[in-house]
Amino acid sequence: MTMETGIADQIIQIKESLPDGIELLAVSKTHPIESLREAYNAGQRLFGENKVQEMVIKHSQMPEDVQWHFIGHVQRNKLHLMAPFVAVIQGIDSYQTLAEANRQAARFNRRITCLLELHIATEDSKSGFQPEKCMQMLEAGEWRNLEHIEIGGVMGMASYTQNREQIFAEFQQLVSFFRTAKELFFKDSPGFHTISAGMSNDYDLAIKAGANLVRIGTGIFGARDYAKAENKV
Ligand SMILES: *Cc1c(COP(=O)(O)O)cnc(C)c1O
Repeated sequence: MTMETGIADQIIQIKESLPDGIELLAVSKTHPIESLREAYNAGQRLFGENKVQEMVIKHSQMPEDVQWHFIGHVQRNKLHLMAPFVAVIQGIDSYQTLAEANRQAARFNRRITCLLELHIATEDSKSGFQPEKCMQMLEAGEWRNLEHIEIGGVMGMASYTQNREQIFAEFQQLVSFFRTAKELFFKDSPGFHTISAGMSNDYDLAIKAGANLVRIGTGIFGARDYAKAENKV
């Protein structure tokens, strides 16, 4: 059984349930273009993908007013493929990646919003800055010379666990990092406002902790079928 027929309903239901000021990113990775179109027709404009090539193809098949968010691990040698159109790169986890995003955005005379990914989970496998390392980078200040990117906030993924208190505490850690960084480095930067956290199973906790952008895939499009997705590309 698939949920494809229910995509529009899911979008509308989730949007109605979100408090004011919370943005919804539809995480469409692995799902076919028809599903994205259905979401688009229901009014959805923010889409998230985690594979560069897949995002490039979908971008070419979707209307121009879609805002594409890259939510995967950023490989610096693939930034040039998304630089012409990507709205937000969510997974920035080093200064080098930020600088390369700037260089590629400059080639297309664009300004790309970048979110600093913080490692808040206990697993080593999840990527992201260690919070101290990220603070050090902000203190060093070289990022201020990067005119073709804007640091738009932070992003984080909680541990893969059933322990809701732990997940909530990890989101709180992300929000607290955001507030400290805002106070120290972005007081006069209204563009630094996004706290991207929460997926289908934990976005309620993320909102409670203070997130304002939730990334929902399964809750909108149904379960992902990776085998099918790979055959298609
Ligand atoms: C896949 C993914 C999501 C969406 O996960 P769901 O559980 O399907 O809602 C959110 N964020 C990131 C970074 C992802 O890779």
